[in-house]
Formats: sequence, C-alpha cells, structure tokens
Amino acid sequence: MTDETFDVVVIGGGPVGENAAARAVRGGLKTVLVDHERFGGECSFWACVPSKALLRPGNALAAARRLPGVQVGGALDPAKVFERRDYFTGKGDDSGQVEWAHGAGIETRRGHARITGERQVTVDGEHVLRATHAVVVCTGSVPRIPDIPGLDEISVWGSREATSASEVPGRLAVLGGGVVGVEMAQAWARFGSRVDLIITGARPLPKYPDFAGDLVVEGLIEDGVRVHANSGLVAASEVDGAARLELTGGETLTADKLLVATGRRPGTDDLGLESVGLKAGSTLTTADSGVVSDVDGEWLYAAGDVTGRAPLTHQGKYAARVAADVITAKAAGRPVGESPWSPYTSTADHYAVPQVVFTDPEVASVGLASPEEGKPHRAVDIDIAVAGSSLHADGYQGKARIVVDTEREVLVGVTFVGQDVADLLHSATIAIVGEVPLHRLWHAVPSFPTISEVWLRLLEAYGL
Ligand SMILES: Cc1cc2nc3c(=O)[nH]c(=O)nc-3n(C[C@H](O)[C@H](O)[C@H](O)COP(=O)(O)OP(=O)(O)OC[C@H]3O[C@@H](n4cnc5c(N)ncnc54)[C@H](O)[C@@H]3O)c2cc1C
Repeated sequence: MTDETFDVVVIGGGPVGENAAARAVRGGLKTVLVDHERFGGECSFWACVPSKALLRPGNALAAARRLPGVQVGGALDPAKVFERRDYFTGKGDDSGQVEWAHGAGIETRRGHARITGERQVTVDGEHVLRATHAVVVCTGSVPRIPDIPGLDEISVWGSREATSASEVPGRLAVLGGGVVGVEMAQAWARFGSRVDLIITGARPLPKYPDFAGDLVVEGLIEDGVRVHANSGLVAASEVDGAARLELTGGETLTADKLLVATGRRPGTDDLGLESVGLKAGSTLTTADSGVVSDVDGEWLYAAGDVTGRAPLTHQGKYAARVAADVITAKAAGRPVGESPWSPYTSTADHYAVPQVVFTDPEVASVGLASPEEGKPHRAVDIDIAVAGSSLHADGYQGKARIVVDTEREVLVGVTFVGQDVADLLHSATIAIVGEVPLHRLWHAVPSFPTISEVWLRLLEAYGL
C-alpha cells in the first residue's frame, strides 16, 4: 500500500483529463493523471483521430474526381490508408502522450482508479492518492450495446474495431444512423466493402436539419451504400460463418461483420461512485463550473463524455479548462462567481456546441439545428450556390441554414452541409458566441470567390 498527496487527482488520461491536468499544473497545482489503459484515450487511438485518418483520403479522391482536368487514376489503396492511420495512432503506443504529460509537469500513474472516499482515489486497490483540493473525473464513455437476440453469436465490430481494422470485410452491415454510423459506413464503402446501413428513422443524423441527413444519404448511395431507413435489427444469427440479420418488416441481410454504432454511455461502472453516494454507471451531472451535483463539499469535478453534456473532444477539453481554472482560483482563495461567459463557467455548452460530421458531404453545425418552439426564432434555408462553391467543385451541392433570434437579431444556430464546409464552422461559432448583431455581421464581407459567400446570401435571404 502506498499513500501520496497531490493538489489535484485527475482520473482518466484521455484528451479531457490531459487538458484538466495540464491546466491545473499551469495554475501551480501539483497534479497526477491516472489511466488504466492508454494515455490519449479513446479519441487518440480509436475515435476522432483514426476515423478522420480513414475518411480524409476518400474525401480527397472524390473531390479530385469532381474537377475536370485532374487526372485521377485508380481507387483508394486501403493498405496505404491504414498505414497512414497507424502513423497517427502510433499503433497504440502511448509513450508520446506520457512524455508530453511529463513535459507539461503532470505526474502519471497507470492503473484502475476508484474513488474511495472524500478527496481520495485508490489505484489498483493499493495505491492511495489524496487530493488536497479536487478530484476530476474524465473517464469518458463506453459503447451502448442494444439487447438484440443473437448479437453475441455473430462477428460484431464496435467503433474501436471499425477504426482500427486493417482488413476490408466483403460485406459490412452498420447498425445506427448517428455520426459514427454514417462516417464509418462511408469510409468502409470507399475501401470496397458492400455496406448496408440500418437506421431507425427516415434519414440518419436525426439531431440535424432534415436536409443534412438527406444530403448525406445521397453521398452514401453514390458510394454504393444501401440505406435501410425506418428499420431496425430484430435478431441475428450465424449461418455458414456469416451474420444473418433480420430487420424490422421481415427483410434479411447477410454480412461478414456487423458494426454496432448505437451510441455511448458514461464510463462510470466501476469508479467507486457509491462511496460518495452516487449510483454506479450513472452520468456525472455537473454545474457549469464542472462541480459534480449531489456530492457535498465541492471537491469532486467532472468533464468530458462522462458528464453527458456534449460528447465531443473539443467541448470536453473546454469544460476541463473551466474546471481546472475554477479549482486553481479556489485554491488561491480567489472568487469564481457564476456569471455566464466568465472563465469559470462552460456557458458555451448551452448555446454554441460546434460539431462536424466528416462524411462527404460534410455536415458542420453549431447552436440550434431548428427554431425552438415558443421562442422568437426563424430559420432561413438556402442552397450553397455561390461563385466560390461552383469554382470549388463541379456540380457542388450544399445547403445552409441560419436560425435567427428575431427579437435580438442575432444568430442562435447555423448548419452547413456540403463539400469542405468544416472550416466555415468557426465563423458561425464566433458569430453565435459573440452575439454579433446581424446588421453588424452584414459588414463582415466574405472574400470572393469563396464558399464563405454563403454568409452574404443567408443574410440577404433573411431580409438584409
Ligand atoms: C468513432 C468515434 C469518432 C469520433 N470522432 C470525433 C471527432 O471527430 N471529433 C470529436 O470532437 N469527437 C469525436 N468523437 C467523440 C470523442 O472521442 C469523445 O468525445 C472524447 O474521446 C471524449 O474524451 P474523454 O477524455 O472524455 O474520454 P476518453 O477519450 O474516452 O478518455 C477516457 C480515459 O479514461 C480512462 N479511464 C476510464 N475509466 C478509468 C478508471 N476507472 N481509471 C483509470 N482510467 C480510466 C480510459 O482508459 C480513457 O483513456 C468520436 C467518438 C467515436 C466513438
């Protein structure tokens, strides 16, 4: 048994935990970061980084094909794409992340951490870490596996397998029309799998405007994906080494692999939450300061996927910076207050969470996808059809929406769908966070000829 004391103990060395720890160290606090698997977390090894490495070459090839005069021979070379992905993930070697942490002044411990009392964490049941100021939980999320008869009999991929596999299955079925489902359906279709996408609704990406799901479906169909809308998986069984999938309505499919992409739940199953009066497996609900609700003493903080707020790397890292700044300020005896948009509140979680779906076409959205009922909101939808988009790609197809608060005449939501719209998104995020009045936004003149010209068309369509 060992016993050590730090100012701050951070559980979970994913991107969010790394940020919380680095920021606490920057604030002068002695901090330890604990991970039971790989420092760098899901994002670096099995999620954001490898999935984008798998998608980018296919998007680049499709973009090149849309330009007459660009000589594009052949298809994707999956082996080379996997090699490049492995370069980014270091084939699972997290020594670079550990080195970075030590360089940033963070102490690391590897092992399974459980909360064992107030301001106390025990690693692997034998190393006690005491926190003078705070414990920060950044344990991320784990896949949610639906209870479907026969699922355990067949060859199933989760998102980890879908982002790390180096063999292309002949037939891949994908269950789930969320971000992971559509991204991986397109990536693997472009590597040569025959992909069947099974979705419960009329279109994928239900959290976005309908035109987003519709345009993504058009892109998937162009890549040969068969989309089974208003469907679901009822039962699965193994037949001659393949998966036989029974869908709603009696349709059946045969696949070599089934990717289950049906969402995630907080990674709190075995975290010792019971020791502080919380339920194992539950979401760690937090105040905007990062303090976990329903725990006395304001010493337990959480950030990232585990809080169920905005399950995105960038947003989790933002919450981590806020929580660490709150801890640092309190440790120094400085007041933190609760005023919105202060450094001590993750206010943006409520108004301006940006997210990109890296399919072709891309979906880039921030704030509200649609007007809220009972609010003075108005949506304006237009095609992205400006000089910049026409020059960018022949037959450019895209759509944009703004949601305007008509009383304050500011934006509360923006969505772009189209090729290469991801980097337009930050302009929208700035407009929403800055609450830039539309009559002032009018003076932000987009360069000619760029896809950003869509901003001018949107304001004109609103009536300016
Ligand atoms: C396929 C896929 C693609 C994605 N693409 C994107 C994207 O493009 N952009 C984006 O913003 N988001 C993306 N996401 C979401 C993103 O991966 C998560 O939001 C992000 O990883 C959350 O970071 P985190 O640090 O909270 O959790 P994680 O990255 O899950 O890290 C949690 C860490 O905690 C450790 N841990 C857990 N329990 C314990 C314990 N008891 N003791 C010690 N250590 C523990 C784990 O080992 C892990 O290292 C994607 C997700 C998936 C599945």
